[in-house]
Amino acid sequence: MSHPIYIGAEIYRASTYGPSHPLAVPRVSTTTDLCRAMGWLPDAQFRPAPMATEAQVCRFHTADYVAALRRAEAAQAVSDEDRARHRIGAEGNPVYPEIYRRPMTSAGGVLLAAHLTAEGGVVHYPGGGTHHGRPDRASGFCYLNDPVLGILAWLDQGLERIVYLDIDAHHGDGVQDAFADDARVLTISVHEAGRWPRTGPASDRAGGCARNFPVPSGFNDSEMRVLLRAAILPLMGAHRPQAIFLQCGADALEEDPLSRLSLSNNAHWQVVAAIRHLAPRLIVTGGGGYNPWSVARCWAGVWAMLNGMAIPDRATPEAEAVLRGLRYNRAAGRNPPEHWFTTLRDAPREGNVRPEIHALASLALEPS
Ligand SMILES: [Zn+2]
Repeated sequence: MSHPIYIGAEIYRASTYGPSHPLAVPRVSTTTDLCRAMGWLPDAQFRPAPMATEAQVCRFHTADYVAALRRAEAAQAVSDEDRARHRIGAEGNPVYPEIYRRPMTSAGGVLLAAHLTAEGGVVHYPGGGTHHGRPDRASGFCYLNDPVLGILAWLDQGLERIVYLDIDAHHGDGVQDAFADDARVLTISVHEAGRWPRTGPASDRAGGCARNFPVPSGFNDSEMRVLLRAAILPLMGAHRPQAIFLQCGADALEEDPLSRLSLSNNAHWQVVAAIRHLAPRLIVTGGGGYNPWSVARCWAGVWAMLNGMAIPDRATPEAEAVLRGLRYNRAAGRNPPEHWFTTLRDAPREGNVRPEIHALASLALEPS
């Protein structure tokens, strides 16, 4: 198989959702810079994400909604009607300078990834992973749903068995709902119980096409390993996937300001290592993640794992410069711990495996 491909996009570099929004921080560009600074990203493995066309995104989204995004970018304002109907400029989905081009690029990158993996292969696209997007409305900081578009592209290529695995701190509701009646796609989501959007209880199997693991606050690396080995890997194996889409949101990390889960990035990398060879096609995207240091260190390490490269104990001087150059307008940004600058790998966060974790694992394996 050919080398993994990394898809990046410069549109993310200066783009923010506004100074007080959790997505004020640079994530995709920092991850790309960090991979380059570690010496992990030769030009031959890099592709820039194109913007999707409106016809492509209308495979899932409505033309009216896409037109409303285009209008919002042009006017930098939103009508009352578009706000009410499409939730643009409402509920954490602000009008911002790239509100049309950036989601169209997240979609375009994932569609490129689906194209590049048509005959097999591995792609990492940190710009993708907007799993809350709905056909005709924005939701949870997501305008378009690039995982859905990528999976639809694989289905359109003729694939019949796909697994979507989502380890973001929030339930992958938009993707689950898109494929709820489609036995070709198994969606699996690990997310914090009781956290927005408060969907995805363990009992919700979407007619047999989904499994949900709502985990308690403090969820640690040991608990993730139990879920992975006892439930997720057996479920994935039983589906015999031709392709796997991993939404690798970084907001379940201990340092994330939006969730109360306690993973280290070793947990994310362990998931990547465990699924890397389960199917001939693999797309890994980003997702949530609101602490710029923990996000970039996690997603750069994902790229190393996909390439089978060892992660050294100490970041290179160039990588350290990238990490020291970050600014973060929250309490944690005032006095960041030194290891956020000098390492990529977190200290492991092993711990007790609580009984409810074992219960979630066995429940998921019961027949539908
Ligand atoms: Zn999230």
